[in-house]
Amino acid sequence: MAAITTDRLTKVYPGGVRALDEIDLTVEDGEFFALLGPSGCGKTTLLRTVAGLEESSGGSLHIGDVDVTRTPPGSRDVAMVFQDYALFPHMTVAENVAYPLRIKKVARAKRTEKAAATAGELGLSDYLERRPGQLSGGQQQRVALARAMACHPSVFLFDEPLSNLDARMRLEARTFLKRLQRELGVTTVFVTHDQAEALALADRIAVMESGRIRQLGTPSEVFRRPANTFVASFIGSTPMNLLDGVVRPRGIEVAGELLPTPPEPAGRLVDGEKVVYGIRPEYLVHSPTAVPGSLAGEVRVVENLGHAQLVTLEGPAGFVQLVVDEDTPVALGDRGFAVPRQDRALVYRDG
Ligand code: ADP
Ligand code: MG
Repeated sequence: MAAITTDRLTKVYPGGVRALDEIDLTVEDGEFFALLGPSGCGKTTLLRTVAGLEESSGGSLHIGDVDVTRTPPGSRDVAMVFQDYALFPHMTVAENVAYPLRIKKVARAKRTEKAAATAGELGLSDYLERRPGQLSGGQQQRVALARAMACHPSVFLFDEPLSNLDARMRLEARTFLKRLQRELGVTTVFVTHDQAEALALADRIAVMESGRIRQLGTPSEVFRRPANTFVASFIGSTPMNLLDGVVRPRGIEVAGELLPTPPEPAGRLVDGEKVVYGIRPEYLVHSPTAVPGSLAGEVRVVENLGHAQLVTLEGPAGFVQLVVDEDTPVALGDRGFAVPRQDRALVYRDG
């Protein structure tokens, strides 16, 4: 087991794309760490650089106490699971799982035994002689996992390993992966663009944008106190409302309405300062009648979320979304008022 530390790790691709821009982070020994961000933000590049499949352009990388910045991939004691699993189609499950042991020149009898044992742990004993093409997506994913586990690496690197599974399989695989990681206690870096997956699985999350880390924290920290409007709009099952506001002595003025100032504004607010007022749809309470300190509007869209409804109001503040419980009647064209929960509102200066 080992921690991973990067110090100003940078990757510039030929052609000039700065995919990693001075990344500083420490993944603790045994931690389940998620790299979260939109497509193209540099997640795969960071993972491949840790694995040694990409050479860094600057900065350094340690695994445990060892500086591996220039160490070839075969000598790094890490195992990577790729998005498309990258199984060998002409090899059986047993041969696929045993492959890294073959590369490490483990004797045939020994590697057959180890591969069978690892495949068994992942419920693949009945499929050892099949080829990847004869397996379901979920089974292929387990083969990829077994192949990664066979060498008992110090570090697991997962690049969106669940993205090719259907919704139900994905939930199952998520639970399975979490349990497996807990049991093995292996330091794990898990890449995803799915915020729900990161929140569900990770001990800590780094939210990336354009080759930089915009926030690093526990799931509850990044959900409750996103550090900037980028993270605020990226985390959450529905995007946070981000509204233009002006600081006043008795509140934040949004579209002529005075909303209560949140308890912990980011830094001291200056009277007259332009800010962004952030409130999640879940923390706006619906009222059919006018309430002081609320956001008024006309109902434009009602989306059924199953357990609730996502209602879009259009009013002086622009579009405002709120979650309304499933039994409350809301019709298109109705006038509605969204009352913010003061303790959940946030104020940003970076809008
Ligand atoms: P993510 O995994 O978050 O989607 P990537 O790490 O794949 O992002 O890509 C980060 C940036 O680097 C993107 O702008 C992408 O186009 C660029 N990039 C990735 N791989 C290469 C490459 N081999 N050569 C040049 N540019 C690349
Ligand atoms: Mg990627």
